[in-house]
Amino acid sequence: MRFSHYIIMSQPAKPKNQKTFQAPRGTYDILPDEQIYWEKIYKTIKEVFLFYGFGRIDTPVIEDADLYVRATGETTDIVEKQMYLFKSKGGDSLALRPEFTPGVIRAYLEDGLSALVHPVKLYSWGPLFRYENPQTGRYRQFHQVNLEVIGSKAVANDAEVIQLFFVVFRELGLKAINLHINSIGCSECQPHYRKLLLGYYKNRADRLCADCRRRFRQNPLRLLDCKDEHCIQLMAGVPQMIDHLCEECHTHFKSVLEFLDELEIPYILNQSLVRGLDYYTKTVFEFWPDGEQARQGALGGGGRYDYLIKFLGGKDTPAVGGGIGVERLIAQLKFQAIKFHPLINPRVFLVQLGELARRRGFKIFEELRKANIAAAAAFSKDSIKTQLKLADRAEIKMALILGQQEVLDGTIIVRDMTTGAQETIKQDKLILVLKKRLAKKIINQ
Ligand code: AMP
Repeated sequence: MRFSHYIIMSQPAKPKNQKTFQAPRGTYDILPDEQIYWEKIYKTIKEVFLFYGFGRIDTPVIEDADLYVRATGETTDIVEKQMYLFKSKGGDSLALRPEFTPGVIRAYLEDGLSALVHPVKLYSWGPLFRYENPQTGRYRQFHQVNLEVIGSKAVANDAEVIQLFFVVFRELGLKAINLHINSIGCSECQPHYRKLLLGYYKNRADRLCADCRRRFRQNPLRLLDCKDEHCIQLMAGVPQMIDHLCEECHTHFKSVLEFLDELEIPYILNQSLVRGLDYYTKTVFEFWPDGEQARQGALGGGGRYDYLIKFLGGKDTPAVGGGIGVERLIAQLKFQAIKFHPLINPRVFLVQLGELARRRGFKIFEELRKANIAAAAAFSKDSIKTQLKLADRAEIKMALILGQQEVLDGTIIVRDMTTGAQETIKQDKLILVLKKRLAKKIINQ
């Protein structure tokens, strides 16, 4: 009895049919090597956005589902097909955040931000969730960088949002990103245009794809951004919104384009660009990569939303904003072979031999960190050969060798990995010596 108990304790039997786990479909892990991109993008947007007076806002990834139904629009793809909905134990209907704007506006209204000097400029960064068909560049959990300028109808702010995304692209080294821009009018001119659109499609409705037949009834503007071949053919003689803008929208749009000219941001007037969400008015825009890469979809987009805040219970407050998809941004950086410095670039490798040296080595390693000298070590390894090989493989040009004798003498050996030359120095002089050597670039890094 005792014996079998011992066997069970030391070698637990593998449960039959042991389940292995995978990340849910459409989600993925961001591994250490990938973090270079994430850190660089975050550092860049933070620098640019803070400089331009944007404050960071983090809203919950869960919100009242009704917020999106009302703000994003009942008949939009996001609300109709893509929202992750669930009931909490308390019975609340919640949704995983499918886009940033409604949550940010909810916070603006709830947290008293509407009492601040306007415009209130906010940026966000984080995961979004949409139940989509996963494919390259399309995930169920993805990330966006998001900007909102709340409380301004000034053209300058439309231009600012667009420009800041371009600054981010440029700072990251990206080229060949095209800005597509359009105006979809306001409550004055859009209803008139909708009527024209419905009139145009009335006799063509039976030739539309199934999605467009539904759009014809529920959201006719979206007929314009259908990607179905037959629907595209039917668009040949469709009335153009731009020819039917009211005076104010026309002037606004013209001024936005003049602003972009001044900022030397090239744009493509894209009259079929309407964006998928209900709340947009006037300016709408998207960023598209060139050529083949465009197959992955837009890098980002946004627009003006002058009625949303009032619609959600606030005062009449015009606003403009937009977002960039981080995964697609990273795919574009990789496609354009843009490389960033590693997050840490060790200049010295600490080699330790024996238990005493390992313990002392730990202390020295922390002293190196405090002195801002990037270092590497392999405290689980014993042999000097293995440790020097690791230093070599990491292309580190200087090794610090600490054996039992050195610990007793209070010394350490500094080895030039290129020439093999070694020098023994006092441990209390180590930081000084390293700083001098690294500054003089005696070590060729
Ligand atoms: P939207 O909020 O739909 O205008 O999307 C803005 C940007 O977010 C897009 O241009 C993409 O870069 C990114 N994006 C949207 N949906 C997804 C998705 N399912 N997977 C990855 N990125 C996405």
